[in-house]
Amino acid sequence: MGRGFILFEIVFLGTSASAPSIQRGLTSQVVLHGEHRFLIDAGEGTQRQILQSGLGFKRLDRILVTHGHLDHILGLGGLISTFVRWEAMDKILIAAGQSALDRIQDLIFGVVLKGKYPPVEITLLPLEEGRVFTERDFTVQAFPVSHRTPDCYGFVFEEIARRPFLPEQAEALEIPPGPWRGELVNGCRVELPDGRTIDPEQVLGEEVPGTRLVHVGDAGRTDNLLEVARGADTLVIEATYLEAEKDLAEQFGHLTAQQAGQLALDAGVGGLILTHISRRYREDQILEEAQQVFPQVYVARDFDHFQVKRGECLKV
Ligand SMILES: [Zn+2]
Ligand SMILES: [Zn+2]
Repeated sequence: MGRGFILFEIVFLGTSASAPSIQRGLTSQVVLHGEHRFLIDAGEGTQRQILQSGLGFKRLDRILVTHGHLDHILGLGGLISTFVRWEAMDKILIAAGQSALDRIQDLIFGVVLKGKYPPVEITLLPLEEGRVFTERDFTVQAFPVSHRTPDCYGFVFEEIARRPFLPEQAEALEIPPGPWRGELVNGCRVELPDGRTIDPEQVLGEEVPGTRLVHVGDAGRTDNLLEVARGADTLVIEATYLEAEKDLAEQFGHLTAQQAGQLALDAGVGGLILTHISRRYREDQILEEAQQVFPQVYVARDFDHFQVKRGECLKV
């Protein structure tokens, strides 16, 4: 897959803060990369949102949790109950900070399974800062986030940096079509049928950093997010309050739309998507406040689908 292709996609399943509204379910979203899918958070009602989104449950076996507040985890009870009864899934992995994981353990093993041995393998993975998953062409990393509960994490989905293949160089060297080009892309020296040896150096350009999607759940500060968000192609972050109620935002460990916009500006991100929207405001109030600071902003709605590309995000 070359540059400019879609590297990551994100589908919002729920975009409301604390309690659902008529229009918005509780927090949950799916990040997709080819066949890979990651569910981030599962507020109450997530199961039905998954069905309504058309994504279905298939391959939704890796769940990342930002923190242990109930509006982000209660949906795991229903979801796991369905998974263990009906779905053809042999294992489920849930990754969260330790205190969130303790609560999730109570919910799943204490309430949902209540001592029964689960028919699928359920792994609870305690998060630490650093690499969580490594796939062939991308990684998922966790980083700490400050909110009013311990062990909160955000996630970076990042394409592994690669050196692009230069077709004009290959033409100039008269490398014939065949397996040789693929091997050169993979960094292997090849011997051509005419006996010449070609080094990858001869056909590969400068290393290009990978496309990066940074996801932050609930957060009460932005200063410690600046480095991780710097240069992200897309930043997803909460915007629970407006600047007019900044003291409430501070009191409850949340951000205002302006603070989120300011972070996006300071970090030089390609696009900003705001979520975790309070029922106390209209969507356009949140949008306008953020837009005054950072123009490339969306306020996510349930079932919104975005493509993350190099330097931008597009709503589809
Ligand atoms: Zn929340
Ligand atoms: Zn919270």
